[in-house]
Amino acid sequence: MYRKKKKSKVLVIDDDRAQRMLMRLALEQNDLIVEEAESGMDGLAVFERLQPDLVMMDVKMPEMDGFTACRKIRSTPEGSDVPVVLVTGLDDFASIERAFEVGATDFITKPVNWPILTHRARYLLRAGKAFRNLSQSEKRLSLAQRIANIGNWDWDIKNENLYWSEQIFRIFGFTQHSFEPSYENFLLSVHPDDRDSVTRAVDQALSADKPYSIDHRIVLPDGTIRTVHEQAEVVFDENGRPLRMIGTVQDINERIESEKRIRFLAYYDPLTGLSNRQLFKEHAIKALHAARRNCTKVALIYLDLDRFKRINDTLGHNAGDQLLKKIADILSDSIRSSDLLAKADSRENHRAELSRLGGDEFSILLTGLKEEDDSARVAQRVLKQLTRPILISGQEVSVSGSLGISIFPDDGEDIETLLKNADIAMYHAKENGRNTFQFFSKRMNSRTLERLNIETELRKALDRDEFVLHFQPQVESRTKKIRGMEALVRWDHPERGLVPPGKFIPVAEESGLIIPIGEWVLQTACAQARAWQEAGLAAVRMGVNISGLQFRQQNLTAIVHDILESTGLDPQYLEIELTESSIMRNVDKAIDTLHELRESGVRLAVDDFGTGYSSMNYLKRFPLDTLKIDRSFIMDITTDPSDAAITRAMLALADGLGLEAIAEGVETEEQLEFLRAQNCDQIQGYLISRPLPALEAERFLQPKINA
Ligand code: C2E
Ligand code: MG
Ligand code: MG
Repeated sequence: MYRKKKKSKVLVIDDDRAQRMLMRLALEQNDLIVEEAESGMDGLAVFERLQPDLVMMDVKMPEMDGFTACRKIRSTPEGSDVPVVLVTGLDDFASIERAFEVGATDFITKPVNWPILTHRARYLLRAGKAFRNLSQSEKRLSLAQRIANIGNWDWDIKNENLYWSEQIFRIFGFTQHSFEPSYENFLLSVHPDDRDSVTRAVDQALSADKPYSIDHRIVLPDGTIRTVHEQAEVVFDENGRPLRMIGTVQDINERIESEKRIRFLAYYDPLTGLSNRQLFKEHAIKALHAARRNCTKVALIYLDLDRFKRINDTLGHNAGDQLLKKIADILSDSIRSSDLLAKADSRENHRAELSRLGGDEFSILLTGLKEEDDSARVAQRVLKQLTRPILISGQEVSVSGSLGISIFPDDGEDIETLLKNADIAMYHAKENGRNTFQFFSKRMNSRTLERLNIETELRKALDRDEFVLHFQPQVESRTKKIRGMEALVRWDHPERGLVPPGKFIPVAEESGLIIPIGEWVLQTACAQARAWQEAGLAAVRMGVNISGLQFRQQNLTAIVHDILESTGLDPQYLEIELTESSIMRNVDKAIDTLHELRESGVRLAVDDFGTGYSSMNYLKRFPLDTLKIDRSFIMDITTDPSDAAITRAMLALADGLGLEAIAEGVETEEQLEFLRAQNCDQIQGYLISRPLPALEAERFLQPKINA
């Protein structure tokens, strides 16, 4: 479609009428539209209405001169880039200078050269148009950058000049005056943790012509951190040398934040902040992988609150939500406690993770377990914590939960099966009267119940004075002369009868109860030894077993010292028996403790020698007195040549290290014969005597027996 070319408009401002007319004639010849104004004031009004493409203005006018009018035009938004030509006197240099200052585009001198004037006008109109287009597209670009939150930069590498667009200043939190763009200054704004990756990208772009596209964080002057996306490429000269680098920076903080938010909504429960079923499953799958690799167990505890629906209906949904939040806190606290997974050896791998599966259902994933019992401890703890009254809008509410436990791999190989079985177990717990837990497997139920019962009763046993010591004599193998007694603890349970240590010592170790029990044993054994000596019986050493946990106890030496003092027993008569494994753990610390004990005059024995792992190197460094060769070697000493050989080697070792040797569990004359032949100096076992109550053991200390 043909469109008539739009004619350009020229505004002529001059107080001299003749001059205006000449101008009009000259310009109209060139197909321009001309409007006139006869004063500066008038000119401003016409300018506003007409919006001309060019202004020709006389300098000398009454009231408002051309300079003032020009400045006023420039200060309006429409007048900022219209070409304005001032008409000055020929050699009036001061006016020419001022014209420039007030923002005139050009000047012409009087007398006016009319043919030239029209060409001037055409040139100026063209330049003005180009200028307007340019500034318009700059404005458009700047607006687009602001909308997209994107800015561009241009780095002149040779001259180290860095240009930043307006928007980059805004993204980085600077004003154009407060910041001098340079590569170094830019790097200072980059988050310290991201600086390396940014410089690496820039270096690679420069050296390998690799455009980059990276996300990194920046730190604004006020300290806020935002994430930006940056893209750049290098312009090389014909010799392949980098000339410039140009790039864009986009503020993608909002996007990142909303992505985070979306992720949170997809993986977490917004009410409690706990991981939801989806995330729980993802973590569980990973945990099962790891467990398969490390041959460890994973326990899945499924928890359902008892009668939550009723509480919710009575108190209202708001209160119900409050309650769930508090319960989530209680559960987090009760699984966070560090002494729950008591197997101190590999605590690093132990983890407990709580999720909300929906409604009033929670799950706890326990990983890195060696003992399934650990999960029962957690369950028990959770139940206990849950029953504490909770305050909801001024009202005390008490809740309880039913828990079901399934164990990987025993109760299922995949997470679906484990969830299903934990759920089934949870229903059994509900049937069993709620506020309790159940394992999926029957075997675990009875086993754990037994252990937990023992633990509960063990706590009371000390107060009820249910422990007793039996004593087993240690004699010289040649003469059967008494050399020592070993104190062995028993639990005289009102219903179970005399419980052997193997049944309760492990539970006592796991629950930490071994500390007070061990102290009682030490106290009682030392008191007994002293009592026998007071009664004039043979003074022999008293062997007391100390468990690993006791040995690692900070103040063991002080406790031993106090007991010796209070009982009045001479330290040389106390022999502390430690197992190989308890002294081989954390060897340096063990050596220190052993020296401390040794310095107080106490004797030290390694118990069950040969069953653990001892490095000969270390054995040399331990200040020991006695090696007790474990019963398992003595048992078959006369029938199994390898046991015989090992025993011989251990006896030689004891001899080499200058230690006394005691063979444990000697039951037959044949075993004794063998040991005598191998120069084993002492024995202990049923052949001489079973462990006996103090009164019965006494006879071994009487002179007639020794004869
Ligand atoms: P241990 O220190 O090696 O004690 C020797 C165990 O072997 C005792 O078992 C003893 O009755 C048994 N025994 C001794 N001679 C014979 C024999 O000829 N044949 C057989 N079959 N067994 C024999 P007990 O009293 O059941 O104690 C077992 C373990 O319990 C002890 O092994 C010790 O490790 C631990 N223990 C006992 N009392 C204490 C204690 O007060 N504190 C600590 N931490 N552990 C204790
Ligand atoms: Mg012992
Ligand atoms: Mg032993």
